[in-house]
Amino acid sequence: MHQKRKKYFKQNEIIFHEGDIGDCAYIIEKGQVEIYVKSSSGDIQLAQLGPGEFFGEISVIDGSPRSASAVATQACELITVSSESISERVDSADPIVRMLVSTHSKRTRSTNHAVKNKEVKNSDHSPNLNIDVAETQKVIEKMRLEMELKQALPLNEFRLFFQPIVNINDRDIVGFEALIRWNSKKRGMVPPNLFIGVAEETSLIIPIGKWVIETACKALGSMNKEMAAFNEHKDLFISINLSGQQLKDPDFFDHLIRHIKKHQLSAKQIKLEITERVLMEGHTTLATLDKCRTYGFPIALDDFGTGYSSLNHLTQICVDDIKIDKQFVKRMLEDTRTYIITQSIISLARELGVPIIAEGIEEEENCSALQDLNCEYGQGYLFSRPVPFENATKLLLIKKNKLKLTS
Ligand code: C2E
Ligand code: CA
Ligand code: CA
Repeated sequence: MHQKRKKYFKQNEIIFHEGDIGDCAYIIEKGQVEIYVKSSSGDIQLAQLGPGEFFGEISVIDGSPRSASAVATQACELITVSSESISERVDSADPIVRMLVSTHSKRTRSTNHAVKNKEVKNSDHSPNLNIDVAETQKVIEKMRLEMELKQALPLNEFRLFFQPIVNINDRDIVGFEALIRWNSKKRGMVPPNLFIGVAEETSLIIPIGKWVIETACKALGSMNKEMAAFNEHKDLFISINLSGQQLKDPDFFDHLIRHIKKHQLSAKQIKLEITERVLMEGHTTLATLDKCRTYGFPIALDDFGTGYSSLNHLTQICVDDIKIDKQFVKRMLEDTRTYIITQSIISLARELGVPIIAEGIEEEENCSALQDLNCEYGQGYLFSRPVPFENATKLLLIKKNKLKLTS
């Protein structure tokens, strides 16, 4: 922290009084400090602190007067930490951290007040952290979601759905995209957009991501067997969505290899979907992706044309597929500019020799328009919504005329 200054106090010298304005906090370098409150029956000690300990931060954080006094019980050398230095950190902290700090200071004040008055009731020394009620509610809800999400794996509440990816010329299924859902007892079926962000902000995405890899490999192993039983030896693939943190996990590659081996899959059957955001996460991420691709895992660039879209990303890493975002597909027939951009992305991919997968195809007209632009692959409600494993296998067999449509 900047603006460090040393202050010296003699034994029994008061450092600050209850009710003073808190302009700084302290770190004890040498000596002993007692924190106390005055009550009708005399001084009540709250804490005895020694070298390395920190005090006086609460009124700096919440801007209210000191809720206790501090006295040097031995000669002290203290480092002062300025209020700006603390408040700038608190103000720029994650909302959850701000809420925790606020709750902590509120509770400490309340306890000090109760000790002083020998009562346990809420203090009216409300801290002023400029956190509005709506923001606090949002933060609390996020923490609740995070706590429930932590339990979702042990409670076996995740489900993996599979959405067919088809060759749009003959509608043959070439692979599936694995899409996670959270079947929460409390919340019902929760879509990934509502919890992947929270999982990414914590390290939860690592075990969740591993579960996705394990489940997808197991599913593809079963599909392979099912197809082989009908003498269909097709190189089906499953696409897995990856978050940046997963690629920074030192065990990512080995874990992936273990699971393809366990289910007798070849690397080319597991496609790794990444967004351009992931490509911006630095060297470790790119190095892992490179290692995966060298081993034989295809890489698909997801949501192409949105967010951090930059053609420069296409020079950073070789990709095996480009997935054009559903926003383009949805609007290409309503808006000429979108149509032109879609056309350009498809011809760019063609020039680079990279197949295009168009996402979010809902209407026949969009499908034919994409076909006219020489887009090869597609995915969308027109062909199928994401479905559970059993239905995905049925879809495959129906396509192969191995199963009647009525099933
Ligand atoms: P995404 O990778 O872009 O996945 C495609 C999303 O489009 C899926 O939403 C899919 O259900 C939806 N979709 C497919 N066809 C159509 C269509 O015709 N119309 C419309 N309107 N939507 C269609 P979903 O399953 O809700 O997934 C949302 C996002 O959550 C995914 O977007 C992906 O970014 C993320 N996600 C899903 N599963 C995982 C996972 O296992 N790991 C990670 N890290 N992210 C995941
Ligand atoms: Ca995807
Ligand atoms: Ca996508």
